[in-house]
Amino acid sequence: MEIRLWGTRGSVPAPGPHTLEFGGNTTCVEILLQSGRRIVIDAGTGIRNLGNHLKAQGASVRFHLLLTHNHWDHLLGLPFFDPIYWEDTEILIDGWPLAFQALSRVFDDRTGDGFFPVAFDQLKAQITFINRVARGPLVLEDVHIEALSVNHPQGCLGFRLREGDHTLVFITDNELGQEGGRPFGDFVEFARNCDLLIHDAQYLPEEMPEHRGWGHSTYEEAVRLAAEAGVKRLLLTHHDPGRSDTEVRDIVRKARQLVMGRKDAPKIDAAREGASYYLPEVVSVPSRQALFP
Ligand SMILES: [Zn+2]
Ligand SMILES: [Zn+2]
Repeated sequence: MEIRLWGTRGSVPAPGPHTLEFGGNTTCVEILLQSGRRIVIDAGTGIRNLGNHLKAQGASVRFHLLLTHNHWDHLLGLPFFDPIYWEDTEILIDGWPLAFQALSRVFDDRTGDGFFPVAFDQLKAQITFINRVARGPLVLEDVHIEALSVNHPQGCLGFRLREGDHTLVFITDNELGQEGGRPFGDFVEFARNCDLLIHDAQYLPEEMPEHRGWGHSTYEEAVRLAAEAGVKRLLLTHHDPGRSDTEVRDIVRKARQLVMGRKDAPKIDAAREGASYYLPEVVSVPSRQALFP
């Protein structure tokens, strides 16, 4: 399983000189299985560069698109994803049940509403809403995908993908410490022993009182989850749009200190736009050059 990060920023794109290292595009993750099957999680602005990458490859495009939830930072890249304008593209949309409706509303509805000049039914790609994984595991020949409803306003899904013995858990937009929300133990079970956990760590502990109920976690909470679940590697993601590269590096340093000297401590880093990770080796290859020719 290869995991490529096309967007790691939370809430709104944050381009500029202070976000070059970890990236300014919003959430989009590409997963390539050994069979060649492609799965994409979320259609944040990072999906535009994925489209350019696929265009450069020249092959026809077919994949599952798992949408975590409705919020704009996870949907707004799709109108700029070139393969939706190609006849031989096929996209199977799954994930949060209301996200497909929200996504189609981005496009022109011919009554003066929408956020984009093209109507959804004018797209040349075959786009089908299969609405499967929220109702139970989606089992394909080569991959087993489970979803978990997480703590986020208006709802959100986390995903667990297993290919053979290797497991990725992706949970963006989740407030681990939400009062009255899904208990912490459920997340520990969901992430149990995975090779790689990619989890929301938008806020600093001192920012939390002002953002309680906004549906995001701190690096401390994400590290605690990774440690209790026996996760091998943790990537902190959904970086706050106001967070500079220097500040993200500081978060990584503090996060590593929390588990320093512990036996079987998870390896910790921040999710970097343009990086690829391979399971089971989980070799981090910041390959911006390869992904952005
Ligand atoms: Zn978000
Ligand atoms: Zn959200």
